[in-house]
Amino acid sequence: MSMSGLRTRATLHDVVPAFVRTPDPSLIQLAANETAYGPLPSVLEALAREIAHVNRYPDDGAVGLRHAIADWLGVESARVALGAGSLGLLEQVMLALCDQGSEVVYPWRSFDVYPQLIRVAGATPRPVPLQEERNDLDAMLESVNERTRVVIVCNPNNPTGPGVGRFELKSFLHRLPGTVAVLLDEAYFEYVRDPDMPDGLTLLRDHPNVAVLRTFSKAYGLAALRVGYLVAGRPIVEAVDKTHVTYSVSRLAQAAALASISAQDELHGRVEATVRERNRVREALLSQGWQVPTSEGNFVWLRLGAASHAFGKGLGRWGVAVKVVPNEGVRMTIGTREENDVLLEAAGAVREGVLSDAEQLPAE
Ligand code: PMP
Repeated sequence: MSMSGLRTRATLHDVVPAFVRTPDPSLIQLAANETAYGPLPSVLEALAREIAHVNRYPDDGAVGLRHAIADWLGVESARVALGAGSLGLLEQVMLALCDQGSEVVYPWRSFDVYPQLIRVAGATPRPVPLQEERNDLDAMLESVNERTRVVIVCNPNNPTGPGVGRFELKSFLHRLPGTVAVLLDEAYFEYVRDPDMPDGLTLLRDHPNVAVLRTFSKAYGLAALRVGYLVAGRPIVEAVDKTHVTYSVSRLAQAAALASISAQDELHGRVEATVRERNRVREALLSQGWQVPTSEGNFVWLRLGAASHAFGKGLGRWGVAVKVVPNEGVRMTIGTREENDVLLEAAGAVREGVLSDAEQLPAE
């Protein structure tokens, strides 16, 4: 209770508002896993046409976009839900599946917003440490109990980079009770090149408790428009739709997502360039002496422990913004070739000072 006697929801008392700070815009932006290439040209044109209609509310059920995604992916439209980014959908899933006192198991370190969303839904976060920088599915399974409603699998894992393989994930799903939902966060799906990693959609037929989460924010370059999609069994989609905030997927977001589906050719080249650069940056960092896990996303991770802050500060002086996870590590988004060259030069320059007090984990 506050001084005024005003009462707020008890489950929020442990929650602190978590606004993500945007870096100084004059720096090279390698902190938020956005694409460096701007929106796709044909998507910009679709947006320019749509902007004249923003006096009208969007189609709240996003019928056209749902059908287009369903046709594109080869699933029924009743199995597709839309939300304000995959974050909006993550929140909807938590509200749809959890009661007060439910538990949600998730990997840690992973996407830092997970615990926040779990608490806001009134559920209890159950973090499970990573194993060699990837989700430890065996340990996650051991953390499941009768209160568990959802297990989040982040594949590939943000911020560390590696993913879990098809065989591992299938074996996990076979052992997990079907009453527990698995939220498979595939925010970086378009960047995955490891042939061993599964396309989550192929798991849906045998496992109605799986929900696959994807986004137009990353590879498609629509981070500011806030639109993502979920593909799951009908009972999950129906529950998730009940938690939809009216009009939360804007007219511009719907138009841009629709145009994105038809822009696969434009998308392809830039995604390939990012994958090539990811490999080049990793190799160059390895040859500078850093330990760098493999990455299936558009970022690389250095587990620098106590030296993380110093590394982030050092890169800032070189004009590069990266994401520092205090006392754990630093995540660097793959930018354009020129941006990555600056990143590599900066990493090389700060290396001496940083590596001496880095607590790097052994290489895989
Ligand atoms: N999931 C993961 C693993 C992410 O890294 C991100 C963005 N950093 C998101 C979800 C959220 O993305 P958006 O809400 O923009 O779709």
